[in-house]
Amino acid sequence: MIRINDIIDKALKVNPDADIDIINRAYIYSARVHQGQVRLSGEPYLTHPLEVAGILADMNLDSVSIAAGLLHDVIEDAEETQVTPKDLEAMFGKEVAQIVSGVTKLSILPFSSAQARQAESIRKMILAMADDIRVILIKLADRLHNMRTLQYHKIHKRKEIAQETLDIYSPISGRLGIYWIKKELEDIAFMNVNYGEYSKIQSRLNKGRRESEKYIEMVKTLLKKKMEESNLKCEILGRYKHIYSIYQKMVSQSLSFEEIYDVIAFRIILSTIPQCYEALGILHSLWKPIATKFKDYIAVPKPNMYQSLHTTVIGPYGERVEIQIRTWEMDKVAKSGIAAHWSYKEGEKIDEKILKRFSWIQNLVENQENIRDPDEFLENVRIDLFPDEIYVFTPRGQIKSLPKGATPIDFAYVIHSEVGNQCTGAKVNGRMVPLKHELETGNIVEIITTKGHYPSKDWLNYAKTVKAKTKIRQWIKAQEKERSLSLGREMCEKVFRKFRLNFAEQSKSPVMETVAAEFGFKSLEDLIANVGYGKITPLQVIRKFLPKPEAEEDSILTKAIEKGDRKKPKGGVIVRGVDDILVRFAKCCHPVRGDTITGYITRGYGVAVHRTNCINALKMNPERQIDVEWNPEITETFPVKIRVRSLDRVGLLADLAANISKNAANILSAKTETKDDATVTSFFTITVDSTTHLERVIADIRKIKNVQEVTRIDH
Ligand code: MN
Repeated sequence: MIRINDIIDKALKVNPDADIDIINRAYIYSARVHQGQVRLSGEPYLTHPLEVAGILADMNLDSVSIAAGLLHDVIEDAEETQVTPKDLEAMFGKEVAQIVSGVTKLSILPFSSAQARQAESIRKMILAMADDIRVILIKLADRLHNMRTLQYHKIHKRKEIAQETLDIYSPISGRLGIYWIKKELEDIAFMNVNYGEYSKIQSRLNKGRRESEKYIEMVKTLLKKKMEESNLKCEILGRYKHIYSIYQKMVSQSLSFEEIYDVIAFRIILSTIPQCYEALGILHSLWKPIATKFKDYIAVPKPNMYQSLHTTVIGPYGERVEIQIRTWEMDKVAKSGIAAHWSYKEGEKIDEKILKRFSWIQNLVENQENIRDPDEFLENVRIDLFPDEIYVFTPRGQIKSLPKGATPIDFAYVIHSEVGNQCTGAKVNGRMVPLKHELETGNIVEIITTKGHYPSKDWLNYAKTVKAKTKIRQWIKAQEKERSLSLGREMCEKVFRKFRLNFAEQSKSPVMETVAAEFGFKSLEDLIANVGYGKITPLQVIRKFLPKPEAEEDSILTKAIEKGDRKKPKGGVIVRGVDDILVRFAKCCHPVRGDTITGYITRGYGVAVHRTNCINALKMNPERQIDVEWNPEITETFPVKIRVRSLDRVGLLADLAANISKNAANILSAKTETKDDATVTSFFTITVDSTTHLERVIADIRKIKNVQEVTRIDH
């Protein structure tokens, strides 16, 4: 078991000025919190945070990371320990507290084992949730130690954890460039997931070991000699590839173990970059390179900063030999990956930019213009370039990714269109939220549906995803069409009945098809819907079914049709975007040119025009509302009601009438009520051509002797 002093030694070796105090204090605190807790191995729980801190020290991380590593489980066990992030902040400062909270957040995510297929989402989610990359480094160290002690779990649990490691954690360590952790995680995991294959490869490696050792020595000596001939000082390493990578190669290329020649790989480490290229030249002149296998990661580093020359050559026995060439500095980065950025930096005050979440990737984007493998590059930077993604869970633990700002409505449509359409409410982490609530990564989202509930137009304001918006629009459109169909049918039936025709019957006749085609519609349904939309009138339709009338009859016909519509519907009002639609002025509010008006599609008789503030109009179904405006090209007169209150006197009514006429307004009707208190209230229906005209009339009436009040009345 590692001791705290070993960890401190490691930290001091990396940085003599390391903050030892915080490490010591974290150790003492962690020991107190975990006191009495035991691991499955029977060891005191404290061994775990100690080992994790040791791994972090091996990664050359700073004291803050090591302290956070020692404390990484104290909040998670909060039920027993009662430790809060606030406590940690008070004792160890904001950084440590935030990192530990971050690790805890990741630890309590409700992942389940059967999620291999969502592995990519989980990986992204983990990366997206960490505000500080050190959170992930601690998580990896935590996982590494848990893998090293996996044998204490029951077999099915072992397999589950091992599979999760292969799916989630080893790819993350690879992505961050920490290959030594990736390899160790993979081999332990592989051994537990597929012991048969693991031990087969291992025993074969062992069988040929003596021969291999000889082979390694031979290649090393030969290379060393060649390099020295050119005065290149270097170190040459020969090593076995890790078992899981050999297995992957066998599977991906369908090779047997015997066919895998390059289970051994060599590495040449030199001092400078020019030396690397020189060594490459020597190597290629010694053994023939396989052109397609050459990769220059020195000129074009991997997104995680990895640099090296990779080449595969045909070796002394005609076998393939994989060789990496790099500098000592590059070797260090290759070993610790992103973690290398924290080494040696303590006390110097780390570049703020690097500390910021994933800004290292941003740097890469800026510095790396010649990207050779755009797919890999994109894969690596996606998380950072698209921070606009969030990851949330279904109640069953499935992960769904959504754009930032997404709401439960988006989530519902991701689940299923029907769930979306019938969604009436949502719970986030068990609490009811409004449908416009913004979701966050890590939320568990539950949608409440109600049968017979439908999307509303304002959902479009909350939905962020194209899918949700499209589905909502589709639904609204379908609804509109359905409404227009029933409305259109009703309008047609009514008009047809007037002419003693049965619309349903006529619909079946071939004439109807021709008529629909004449209007330019593909089907009868389209024709009817367009009547409903108000784009054509039922009159236009019925005309096609009546014998061609003589001119005079035509006018009689028109009159007949427009009977009951004496208020001159024609032309005075434009229905926006629609020509030739039947328009009727509402009798309740008597709109006059100049009033603000609005239209409503009526059941059976075109569009009724109301004043916008008419109380009847306000009560109407807003879905039937249609925009209308006054047609400036038409002059016509409008009936309007006014009320005049006066003190009674002889000749009053005559004066009123004369005054109205003088202003070129016709009086259609007049009614007078005389009251006991000698006041007279007169009601007139007059015709005016506009509101301006009306105002003039009213102003003049007000000047008449004894008149007290004149108002336009709405109803
Ligand atoms: Mn742990």
